Amino acid sequence: MSVSGAASAAAASTAAGPIAEYEAIIVGAGLSGMYMLIRLRELGMRVRVFEAGSDVGGTWYWNRYPGARFDSESWSYGFFFDDDLYQEWDWPEHFAAQPDTLRYLNHVADRFDLRRDMEFDAEVQAAHFDDARNDWTITLADGRQARAPLLITGLGPLSAPTMPVIPGVETYEGACCHTARWPHEPVDFRGKRVGIIGTGATAIQTIQTIAPEVGHLTVFQRSPNWAAPLNNSRITPEEQRKIKASARDIHERCFNTISCFIHNADPRKALETPPEEREAFWEKLYNEPGFGIWMGNFSDILVNEEANKLVTEFMAKKIRERVKDPKVADLLTPKNHGFGTRRVPLESGYYEVYNRDNVLLVDINATPIERITPKGVKTTEKEYEFDFLIYATGFDGVTGPYDRIDIRGAGGRSLREEWAEELPRTYLGVQVEGYPNLLMILGPHTARGNIPRNSEQIVDFLAGLVRHMRENGLKRVETRPEHVDEWQDHVERAAAPLLSSKVKSWQTGVNRNVAGRDVLRVLGYNGSAVKYRKTTERVAEGGYKEFQFE
Ligand SMILES: Cc1cc2nc3c(=O)[nH]c(=O)nc-3n(C[C@H](O)[C@H](O)[C@H](O)COP(=O)(O)OP(=O)(O)OC[C@H]3O[C@@H](n4cnc5c(N)ncnc54)[C@H](O)[C@@H]3O)c2cc1C
Repeated sequence: MSVSGAASAAAASTAAGPIAEYEAIIVGAGLSGMYMLIRLRELGMRVRVFEAGSDVGGTWYWNRYPGARFDSESWSYGFFFDDDLYQEWDWPEHFAAQPDTLRYLNHVADRFDLRRDMEFDAEVQAAHFDDARNDWTITLADGRQARAPLLITGLGPLSAPTMPVIPGVETYEGACCHTARWPHEPVDFRGKRVGIIGTGATAIQTIQTIAPEVGHLTVFQRSPNWAAPLNNSRITPEEQRKIKASARDIHERCFNTISCFIHNADPRKALETPPEEREAFWEKLYNEPGFGIWMGNFSDILVNEEANKLVTEFMAKKIRERVKDPKVADLLTPKNHGFGTRRVPLESGYYEVYNRDNVLLVDINATPIERITPKGVKTTEKEYEFDFLIYATGFDGVTGPYDRIDIRGAGGRSLREEWAEELPRTYLGVQVEGYPNLLMILGPHTARGNIPRNSEQIVDFLAGLVRHMRENGLKRVETRPEHVDEWQDHVERAAAPLLSSKVKSWQTGVNRNVAGRDVLRVLGYNGSAVKYRKTTERVAEGGYKEFQFE
């Protein structure tokens, strides 16, 4: 449906044509945008969601690559705001595959009739604030415009895919695909020569899934990651019953852990635990489902170098045990960061893939890729020919989706330019100074872990803020500079003790495929999701005094 044809929109006219008017515009129809719409509808608002994709789902709409699945427990990932919804949905596995998650999000969209306020294939390219009118005008890729006092971004932390910067990418003549732009129809890999560039979380899921099917798979690796077993299984009817009966407890638990996962750090310290007890604990965690080995580990492994070295050696030993060729095992062992200092990919038989005759690991530090050719990939050693080339080269994390929109705040200032020149500065990750009435969900400097729970806290906070504005006839909300300084300082202090803050990854804002993104930046809030939630609750209870209103 076009903006001008939208049934619920009021209309204004400019020289450029009619502009549909709403009370709030949401960008993004992933789970954040969907939940924000539900909350704003409860306030009786006229809202429109604009989404670049052709349907709801965000991450789970776009990432259809083979093997895409959760590393969050499914039953901790779905929505909790409606108990009937929780009770009626059966997750088939403890860690659901992408088709099941997309099916779930479609179910939510149907159940709450969300699509009637959504517009698809509607990429927002510009968003400009009008200082006099206190409203935002957005411009879509096809030139159409819409306007609303409130602009709420649910762009997602991982929604701006990046292609590798390698000469000749455009010259490749075979089939190829970025994992986040995977075709909707299954790809038949049988007998094919397949190449994959990248070895991050997405690549790991893809590689372990397609290796048994392809004719031959060549993996181009620059930086190996520390992956741990997912230990997934189907949910039995008895487990299903227990999960549903404990919905409240699961939610409560997620809200009271550091990262909103069900796992929480063990208060003991690795350095103070006798070696046999330590090994036994790690062995147990290694064989348990999910992020326990990362989030439920000894409390010092992510902050103390010595403790981290011990657990890192445990994980290295596991790789050596699982990969037959010691040289390949060594190549798969990260040397530039310790275990857990990057988001840990969870795997199912990944390391064993390299014991297969039809899989080759190419170390592109030893033999760098010179170019992509019409037939495949040319390294300094040789040319590899492929029928299908996969780019598992990830995302320009957190700020990337913002950089792709021309966002202009008060006085025409540009967010893209400001964030290119200096670190993002926000208040609670929800507002940027100079951009009134722009409210971000999961913006820089918010807590991130089990993301729907982080998103839920932010959406609930923003819905409260909007309710406060409506009840008090307020038209404009802005940060107060002193609170931006305060939050910035707090965010930086919270990041300082973590070993992960010194490691280059998407979480520290580094992406070698994006110009200017080679410097470590603090992009998340590491002071725990509990502290983040309590801060937002305190601000809400205090009447939002940290913001200035007109
Ligand atoms: C492969 C993969 C696996 C993941 N697994 C997990 C997991 O197990 N647990 C976990 O907690 N998190 C996981 N994540 C993170 C995941 O992004 C979040 O869990 C969650 O989906 C975020 O929801 P969102 O709505 O905030 O963002 P998204 O789901 O990314 O949705 C954002 C939407 O905004 C749209 N958009 C962006 N820019 C524009 C624009 N300019 N105009 C119009 N539309 C726009 C995008 O098209 C997208 O549909 C995973 C991410 C990936 C990529």
